[in-house]
Amino acid sequence: RPRPLVAGNWKMNGLKASAKILAEIQAGYSAALKAKVDLAICPPSTLTAIFAVTSVGSRVAIGGQDCHAKESGAYTGEISAEMLADAGADYVIVGHSERRQYNGEKDADVAAKAAAAYRAGLTAIVCVGETKAEREAGKTLAVVRKQLRGSVPAGSTAQNLVIAYEPVWAIGTGLTPTAADVAEVHAAIRQELRRLVGKAEQSKVRILYGGSVKPSNAAELMAVDNVDGALVGGASLVAADFLGIAGAY
Ligand code: 13P
Repeated sequence: RPRPLVAGNWKMNGLKASAKILAEIQAGYSAALKAKVDLAICPPSTLTAIFAVTSVGSRVAIGGQDCHAKESGAYTGEISAEMLADAGADYVIVGHSERRQYNGEKDADVAAKAAAAYRAGLTAIVCVGETKAEREAGKTLAVVRKQLRGSVPAGSTAQNLVIAYEPVWAIGTGLTPTAADVAEVHAAIRQELRRLVGKAEQSKVRILYGGSVKPSNAAELMAVDNVDGALVGGASLVAADFLGIAGAY
């Protein structure tokens, strides 16, 4: 099994004072935890550089939540993968369902962003997941497979690509799929990866589960076949909860 990754997505939360939460996570990242699991925190980009500086030596990696597909240029308000790398990030989330929903990002945009991440030396966390209506219509696997084919660019490897399966209806709702449902989707993702990164590489790509992960359900979700970690929203803003989830390993 790949070495698990527990990544925190802070979304549009966090001020300079939130460095306290990062410090608590760093302090709690014990030798025993380090032996088992990689940790990353993806703060808003105002905090990327300061968090990356304070994270040197702690081994809690820092990530962005989005990046532009271009390296630089006249794109007011945007941040490039190169800028995140320059600020000290190792990861960047791309194609989060909130970006797909509120910013109209399509699979092709996500693929271009992931490719930009690779060019900058970042690992892209590519997010996929079905809506409630799609699940109820029995379309989950078809939706996720299509998103993967469209969102994972050429040049992806187990080193530069992480997949996050986040059912839209499970994000911030307290609802989670059953272990059997997670197993089914993650197996389909693993199978799809065979085509996308090749037979030798697919088994090493980390596939995270995201959506209402908490300390109380982490052990059950993380024990599912092909679940190689978690992408955590709300609970990553509370150090004890984030560490509790990491401790499920
Ligand atoms: P919650 O953990 O708050 O449900 O958010 C999940 C998520 O969207 C992480 O990217």
